[in-house]
Amino acid sequence: MEELRNEIDNLRKNLSKIESKEYKECFDNVFAVLETMNQKIEELTINQEAIEENIKFMDDDLTNIQDELFEEVSIDELNDMEDEYTEINCIHCNKPIFIEQSALSNNDEIPCPYCHKNIKSK
Ligand SMILES: [Zn+2]
Repeated sequence: MEELRNEIDNLRKNLSKIESKEYKECFDNVFAVLETMNQKIEELTINQEAIEENIKFMDDDLTNIQDELFEEVSIDELNDMEDEYTEINCIHCNKPIFIEQSALSNNDEIPCPYCHKNIKSK
């Protein structure tokens, strides 16, 4: 980025020696355009760097989440967890409720999250 700015400055210095008024005006316009472009490029570069940094952070976050999701729980463990849950329909409102098998067999009274009545008996 520095290089481009220096080149523009050098060019401007060299061309400032030109005496012709006509050319001077023309070059001034060219330099105005160059300056604008250079500023835009600088802006874009800074934005680009910020975006890259954000992506890197997001990537790190995702890696952490993936580690938590896939490394701490094996497929077998996931299957076990699935086995322990069962689907039951509330006898009052008939809505499906996922509940641990052990909770279902150990408790006589389980409140329905929908109608708040006991899903096991009337
Ligand atoms: Zn219910």
